[in-house]
Amino acid sequence: MPYGYHGRILRVDLGDESIGVEEPQDLLYSRYLGGGALALWYLLRELKPKSDPLGPKNVLVFAGSVISGTAAAGLSRFSVAAKSPLTGAFGEAEAGGWWIPELKFAGFDAIIIKGRARRPVYLWVHDGEAEIRDAGHLWGELAKEAQQGIREELGDERVRVALIGPAGEKLVKTACIINELKHANGRTGLGAVMGSKNLKAIAVRGKKRVKVADGEAVKKLSKALRDSYEEPYFSVGNLGTARVTTMLSEQGILPTFNFREGSFDGADAISGETMAKTILKRRGTCYGCFVRCKREVQVGEPYFVDPLYGGPEYETMAAFGSMCGIGDLKAIAKANQFCNAYGLDTISTGNLISFAMECYERGILTKGDTDGLELRFGNTEAMMSMLEKIGKREGLGDVLAEGICPAAEKFGKGAINFAIHVKGMPAPFHEPRGKVGVGLAYGASATGPDHMEFPHDPFWASEAGVALLRPLGILEPVDVYDLGPKKVRLFVYLQQYWDLLNTLGICVFTAKPFGPQTLNGIVDYVKAVTGWETSLFDLLKVGERHANMARIFNLREGFTARDDMLPDRFFQPMEGGTLEGKKIDREEFTKAMETYYEMMGWDPETGIPKSGKLSELDLDWLSHEGQ
Ligand code: SF4
Repeated sequence: MPYGYHGRILRVDLGDESIGVEEPQDLLYSRYLGGGALALWYLLRELKPKSDPLGPKNVLVFAGSVISGTAAAGLSRFSVAAKSPLTGAFGEAEAGGWWIPELKFAGFDAIIIKGRARRPVYLWVHDGEAEIRDAGHLWGELAKEAQQGIREELGDERVRVALIGPAGEKLVKTACIINELKHANGRTGLGAVMGSKNLKAIAVRGKKRVKVADGEAVKKLSKALRDSYEEPYFSVGNLGTARVTTMLSEQGILPTFNFREGSFDGADAISGETMAKTILKRRGTCYGCFVRCKREVQVGEPYFVDPLYGGPEYETMAAFGSMCGIGDLKAIAKANQFCNAYGLDTISTGNLISFAMECYERGILTKGDTDGLELRFGNTEAMMSMLEKIGKREGLGDVLAEGICPAAEKFGKGAINFAIHVKGMPAPFHEPRGKVGVGLAYGASATGPDHMEFPHDPFWASEAGVALLRPLGILEPVDVYDLGPKKVRLFVYLQQYWDLLNTLGICVFTAKPFGPQTLNGIVDYVKAVTGWETSLFDLLKVGERHANMARIFNLREGFTARDDMLPDRFFQPMEGGTLEGKKIDREEFTKAMETYYEMMGWDPETGIPKSGKLSELDLDWLSHEGQ
C-alpha cells in the first residue's frame, strides 16, 4: 500500500474530452518523487521533439510530490511543466498556495493534460473524479472574477482554483498560472500553454486525507520544525522577500536600469520595511506554513489595490522598481495586482519593460513606436501603460508579448545587446557580477535564468553559512567572486539540493540555509511519510536525475552549450553603484561552465550527458536522445 501518494495520476485529453486515471508502479514514485522530475518522465516519453509549444500536442503536467498534502510546514509547492512557448526549451514553474494539497485531498498525485478543447473549458477535479465544464462565460474575465465565478457555480467557497487571466488567453509568452489570486507558476510562459488549450482553470476540492506510514513520527517532526522556527526582525516572515532591497542596493547588486547599474536611489522607498510600515494590511501564508512571508497590501487612490491580490515580492519590487527606475511603492503594488489579475509573470514582464525603456533611451524605439509614450526610466505612467499594453497585446505591447528575443529582432538596430536573457528567458533580478555563482545558475538552468536554482553565493561565503550545509559535504566557505573549481563544485551540490526541494515541493524559505528544516530532517520526514528506507544520497540523486532529464529535453529541441552563455552585459563593467566597474571575465566563465559539465558527467565541450552518467542515474532509456 502506498503512503504519501495515491498512486493515481489523472489524464485528460481536451481534444476528445476523454478522462482517465493511470496507476503507475511504486518504482516511478521512488525514482522521481514528483514535481519537475515526474513531469519530465512523462514529457520525454509523450511529447515529440520540435512540437509546437502552443499546439495541441504539447503536454502540460501539474505535479505534486510523495509528501505534498502532509502535515509539515512548507509543503505547499508544486510544479507545472510543458515545452515553453517563451524559450522553446523545457518549461517549468513552481508555485505555493493551497492548490496542490487540495489536489492530493481530491485523490490525485498529478494531472497530465493533452489536446486542445474546441471551446473554453475548465477542469473540475473532486473526490477521485474529474469533469470538463464549459468556461465560455469565464473567458476574458480577470483572475478574481473568474475564481469567484467558478466557486459560485460549484457552490463551494473552498474550491482551490489555478487559472489563467486574459494574458494567457491571448497567448502572451510571459503569461503565468495563478492560484488564490496571488501564488504564481510564473516563469517560462506556461499560462500561454493553458490558453492554447482553451483551458481557463483547474478547480480542485477533496476530503481524502493523505495516508502516511508513521503518523506519530510525522506529527513529532512537524512539531519539532515549528518549535525550531525563530523570527528575527529582518526575517523573510516579518518583512517579506523584499526585506533585502535596501541591502542589495548598498552592496551594489540591486539590478537597476536594465542591469546597467547596481544601486538605486529609491531602494529604501520600495523595501520590505517601508511596505510593512505603510501599505501592508496583513501577512499571508501558504498551506500549513508558520513563516507567513506572503504580503497582502491595500492602496487607495489613485491605484486601488485589493489585498486579495497579495502584495509585491522582492522580484516584483525590482522588476517594476529599480529595473524601471521607479521608487513609487504604491505604483509597484498596482503593477503587481495587474500582473496577478491578467496572469502575467512579474519577472519576465518587468524585465521586458526595462529592456524597452533602454531601447527608447538609446533611440532604437521612438514615440512613433510607443503610441506617444515617453518610455524613459523613471516614468511611472509609461511603465503602467506599457504593462497594460503587454497584457492586452496592444501596440508595442503586442511585440513585447512575443518575448524578449523576437521583440529585439523586430526592433533591430542592435537591440539584442540590451536584452538581458539566457535561452530567450528574461533574467530575474540578482546580479551575477556581484555573486558569480548566480551567473553559473543563469547559464546552467535548463529553463533559462532562474534565481531559484541554488542558494546564492553569500550564503556559503562564511563559516556560519557553510555550517548549515554540512551534510552536503560543504566544508569551507568560497568567496563570492571565486569562479574556480571550488565554486563550481559547491554549485553542483547546491543545485542538486534545490532540485530536490523543488521536486519534493518544499518551499526554500522553510529549509536550510533560509529556514529551519535541515537536510537530514527532510530525509527523516520522507521516511516517516512514505515508509521508505531512503537516505540523503538517494534523494539527491533525484535532483541530479531532474537536471539530466531537463538537459536531454533541451538537446532534443536543438539547444547546445552555446545557449548556456550569459548576455554580453554581464561581461561588461557595471556603470554605477558600489560595484562600479565590476564584470565577469568571459574566459573564466567559459572555463567554469566546462568544469560544470565535467562535474556533471557531461561532455566538457558539448554539454551532452555521457552514457555512463545516464546509466548511473537509471536513465538508460534516454541514452540515444539528444545526441
Ligand atoms: S515560507 Fe512563505 S512562500 Fe514559503 S510556504 Fe511559507 S508562506 Fe509560503
